[in-house]
Amino acid sequence: MAMPQFNTARLRLERAPLAAWVGVALAGIAVLVALATNAKAALLTLLAGAAAFWAVREARRFVITPNVERGEALVGLTELAPLIEALPDPALLIDAEGRIVSSNAAARRQMQFEARGQFLTSILRHPDVLEAVQAAVREGETRAVEYETAAQVERHTRCYVAPVNWGEARAAMLVFHDQTARISTERMRADFLANASHELRTPLASLTLLIETIAGPARDNAQDRDRFLAMMQVQADRMRRLIDDLLSLSRIELDEHVPPSDRADLADVAREVIDALAPVVAERNVRVRLAAPTGPVRVVGERFQLAQVVQNLIDNAAKYTPAGGEVVVEVGDGGDREETASRAGRRWEQASRVAILTPAAAANLSYAFIRVEDAGPGIEAHFLPRLAQRFFRVERELGNERGGTGLGLAIVKHIVNRHRGGFLVESQPGRGSAFVAYVESAGEA
Ligand code: ADP
Repeated sequence: MAMPQFNTARLRLERAPLAAWVGVALAGIAVLVALATNAKAALLTLLAGAAAFWAVREARRFVITPNVERGEALVGLTELAPLIEALPDPALLIDAEGRIVSSNAAARRQMQFEARGQFLTSILRHPDVLEAVQAAVREGETRAVEYETAAQVERHTRCYVAPVNWGEARAAMLVFHDQTARISTERMRADFLANASHELRTPLASLTLLIETIAGPARDNAQDRDRFLAMMQVQADRMRRLIDDLLSLSRIELDEHVPPSDRADLADVAREVIDALAPVVAERNVRVRLAAPTGPVRVVGERFQLAQVVQNLIDNAAKYTPAGGEVVVEVGDGGDREETASRAGRRWEQASRVAILTPAAAANLSYAFIRVEDAGPGIEAHFLPRLAQRFFRVERELGNERGGTGLGLAIVKHIVNRHRGGFLVESQPGRGSAFVAYVESAGEA
């Protein structure tokens, strides 16, 4: 296969500019004079060299001017390389034969190819893109083609194909935009809306049914009426909780990209939440014990949001601990990311563990943690990775709903994420579950 000569200029001397001819003539005269007058030979040879150099430079410029044959035209196209290299998105320049004339680093990295001069078809086979390249080269058409590639993850790409005319050379420029993040965000949004509506529709359907019953068959029976009204209260409460949690979640997500800069005392937050939950916990006949240092445990964080984390975790723990049992809340300083995860999250030898959220590695960062440990039934290992997914409830999977929204742990996860912290769970069926959230320590006051 004949490869195009991209870098060697085949000059057509008859078309070289006047400057080149003058240069060559000067060089010739200089050499002749040098031969005739021996004394100044060195100086004249130097002059000849300079004139020849100037001539060649002038002639090289001629190579990229229009009206040249294909080989020279390609040399011209490669002159566009710095422009293509400057683009942030993967970009390729393809000649009329479908060969890659130029590519940028982003394209070489993403498409994993090295050599220039390869055919486009050897790295990309999508028929619509190849057709768009032909249309650009032959008819000067501009097109945008969307396509999907399924490797380990599904990728969505939009490829812009535009004609490039460089003298007589016809080429196509391809620029690739990755649409994967946009499309998956759109999908998540649509899924979320569908899930939220479904979750609200269930209690609403119950309410409608109960209203019909009270208005119809139960109309004259006071006892039935009271019973159905109590059931309506439960469904209305569920709807209120769902809406509260959904609003919380959306508020947290709004500023999730802005990490907090305030300071809070995690031990104090835990104490406050335990006090606030005391009546609810007492009603379930569960004790909550706090193990925290006597001094403050200062962290970088927003007090209100940290309180929400602690409240959701203690609320769950108390809900699952059988009457007479104990929930242990521990607050402490953990050390760096790895030390914190192992010190606070690896206590039970037989337990399964999942890191729901892990902060990016950062040197010199130290964390403080809160661990909420219950004496509940524990969670089977295969459910652990799904715990913080919105609306996920183990009970629903097992077919015995108990009225949770499945949003509490998602809220915890998003708050911890805003704090650039970590969130993990260890659980052992028959022993209990322990949830650990850790955030950046603020050191001494
Ligand atoms: P909710 O408690 O409102 O259902 P969460 O997001 O707080 O929502 O919890 C999601 C699910 O995780 C719960 O429905 C439950 O199945 C499970 N879960 C959470 N905490 C515990 C716990 N301490 N022990 C056992 N299961 C738990």
